[in-house]
Amino acid sequence: MSEYDIIVVGSGPAGSAAATTAAKAGYSVAVVDKAVFPRNKLCGGLFTGRSQKAMRRIFGQEVTQDLFVTTDHMRLLSKGRVLADIPGAPPVHLTMRRDFDAMLHGEAIKAGAIPYLGHPISELGENALTLRDGTQLAFKVLIGADGVSSFVAKTLFGRSFNPDTIGFALEIETPRTPAKDNAVEIDLDAASWGYGWSFPKHKSVTVGVGGINARNANMKANMTAYVRQTDSDEELRFKGQYLPFGDYRKKPGRGNILLAGDAAGLVDPVTGEGIALAMESGSYAAEAAIKALQNKRPQTAYVHYSKLVKPIQRSIDQAKIWRMIMFPKATKGYFRKALERGSSMQAKYLDLLAGEAEYADLRGALLRRIPNLGWRFIKHRLGFKGPA
Ligand SMILES: Cc1cc2nc3c(=O)[nH]c(=O)nc-3n(C[C@H](O)[C@H](O)[C@H](O)COP(=O)(O)OP(=O)(O)OC[C@H]3O[C@@H](n4cnc5c(N)ncnc54)[C@H](O)[C@@H]3O)c2cc1C
Repeated sequence: MSEYDIIVVGSGPAGSAAATTAAKAGYSVAVVDKAVFPRNKLCGGLFTGRSQKAMRRIFGQEVTQDLFVTTDHMRLLSKGRVLADIPGAPPVHLTMRRDFDAMLHGEAIKAGAIPYLGHPISELGENALTLRDGTQLAFKVLIGADGVSSFVAKTLFGRSFNPDTIGFALEIETPRTPAKDNAVEIDLDAASWGYGWSFPKHKSVTVGVGGINARNANMKANMTAYVRQTDSDEELRFKGQYLPFGDYRKKPGRGNILLAGDAAGLVDPVTGEGIALAMESGSYAAEAAIKALQNKRPQTAYVHYSKLVKPIQRSIDQAKIWRMIMFPKATKGYFRKALERGSSMQAKYLDLLAGEAEYADLRGALLRRIPNLGWRFIKHRLGFKGPA
């Protein structure tokens, strides 16, 4: 049986970040993925300033024109009605995950990680795992970065996510017509407690709808309506995937087994951004594993990781407060009007979408609005229909 200091399961942004960090530090690393790269991954591919920073720090890579479309044109809508068309917003980048993930995986291999591709993990013990083709590998620390339906999380905790609190999204890749501009479109009312998106890529436009699963009894109907609204080809078949959307695991690991990225539920509950959080948490998991191995106590890896991953979890908690003005019936009209007016709230929301603001920095702006929001809640509860 081959033995490694660290085995990473999954080579998406979280797994490749973990494998690159650990291999660059000189540890023996294996990276296991059920797919062979390049492979498709359902995702809008919106890449923010936060993602850019993480990619630079971990992989030493920059945003390049071959992999990304960069735009500062944002369009915010409500059921097709344009609330705001903003040509000079903070810029964002858009990528196809097939190419982007293959690049990250390549970086992990260049750093020295040994790939085991094309076979899923089928058994996991305390210090060894088995792949479906019978390959057995031993590890001191294991990092589960195997996405939202994580086998590693299921093995540790009995299930990979809670179906009552998780998000769900549907998406299609539509051909890009010459008429389509470079605007990133977000429709805040295409789903309940979620949104619809239309993201321009070099050759296509990624169109999708997502939100909290339990609040969207018929996500397919939401998607059909949104696809019509964006003038996309209705004949195209949607694909769907669960999305943690703020539903993170309080304890992402145990002993020498750590969970990163979607496997740990790390997706921003306001923007749906998961790529940055995946890269960040993957690198922190590797740092925690390294610390535990340096102390010759692999079982302490989780103790180190729980401290490193805390700021990401805290930012998700802070984002959940923002969600309370964006999505509930009592306050969503207020939020949409603020976006339409081009108020400071619009600027803050655009900063969040572009990954240029931390939720903690925005707390003041939110606190100033509490008296007004509180009054709206009361009016809503009492059914008061006076002037808005
Ligand atoms: C429809 C949709 C749209 C989204 N849009 C955006 C967006 O625009 N911007 C953004 O930042 N985020 C977006 N997200 C979230 C983002 O896609 C994820 O948060 C991100 O991919 C998480 O990265 P990861 O490395 O944790 O997992 P993944 O990218 O899912 O990678 C997991 C890897 O593990 C492998 N794997 C799975 N199971 C096994 C197994 N049993 N054995 C071995 N290997 C396994 C898979 O093949 C895969 O390569 C979106 C998500 C969805 C569903």
